[in-house]
Amino acid sequence: MIRKLMLGAPAMILAATLVSATGAQAAEPATCSANTVFGIVAHGGAMSKRIKEPGRLAIMKAALTKARASLKAGASALDTVEILVRTFEDSGKFNTGKGAIANAAGMVETDASIMDGRDLSAGAVASMTAIKNPVHAARLVMEKTRHVLLVGDRGQAAVEKLGAQSVPPSYFINNKIKDTSDAEHGTVGAVALDRCGHIAAATSTGGFDAKIPGRVGDSPLVGDGVFADDNIAGFSATGHGEFFIRYNITKDVADRMAYLHESIDDAMDHDIHHKLADLKAEGALIGIDKAGNIAMQWNSAGLYRGYATNSEAPIVAVYEGPTQNKRAQ
Ligand code: ASP
Repeated sequence: MIRKLMLGAPAMILAATLVSATGAQAAEPATCSANTVFGIVAHGGAMSKRIKEPGRLAIMKAALTKARASLKAGASALDTVEILVRTFEDSGKFNTGKGAIANAAGMVETDASIMDGRDLSAGAVASMTAIKNPVHAARLVMEKTRHVLLVGDRGQAAVEKLGAQSVPPSYFINNKIKDTSDAEHGTVGAVALDRCGHIAAATSTGGFDAKIPGRVGDSPLVGDGVFADDNIAGFSATGHGEFFIRYNITKDVADRMAYLHESIDDAMDHDIHHKLADLKAEGALIGIDKAGNIAMQWNSAGLYRGYATNSEAPIVAVYEGPTQNKRAQ
């Protein structure tokens, strides 16, 4: 693919895109302000049924408000998505981090990923039983190892050595709760476009209710639960992970945009409302394209979702509410 650069100032293009012989990204300016357009979109999980709102919307709105201010001040998309997802992980209100639901053995196992649209570098962890912030562990994998995905006890020991914080089992609200058949699954995720024109995406989850221990879903898998490419768009997924894995949903939507020249809305609509819906697979996607257009689509009863842009203050909703697609302004 011919990779086009979208940025204004030549020096900034150079700083943003130079890759050293070892593959490490050259230093990015501490802040960037080449573009006026920026945006952040986040989700807190696809909902299979209507439930009493447990306080997620307020957390989302506050996190989006901070993220918008940071992006406006020149923060990178990568830092912004990590910080936002960590906030959700620490809140205990979402199915990840502190609030992750337990597997069939009554143990929390989290999966997470992060992807940098500048060079498609990515990091992920799966089946983490003690990591406080799985998304940070994923970033450590991306930035401090030669690998993309570390799993299980040995992967966990490796990310602890790299600096990921561990917590005791009592930290997780749902640890030891075996019957999660009535729990609402879900995932959290964020995608941002920064003022340098860079896109990053992150996804973090406790996985599916009552999953078999060791089961890994789509959330830590590049092209399934997460994807980001500065030249196309970024995405984070939630829903029935097995289908997102089998149909490579986030990469499929990006490919539709790249090869069929579909808009982000149309490409997402195809996979959520046709491909997945035809399979009776429940799920949702959020995304932002290189021009700043935002899309949020779901075929489930609802989707915890919200966004903020250079021209719009944060808006959050779960069932009815703001439009599913948002044009850049
Ligand atoms: N996609 C997640 C998984 O399959 C669960 C969810 O988003 O509801 O692990």
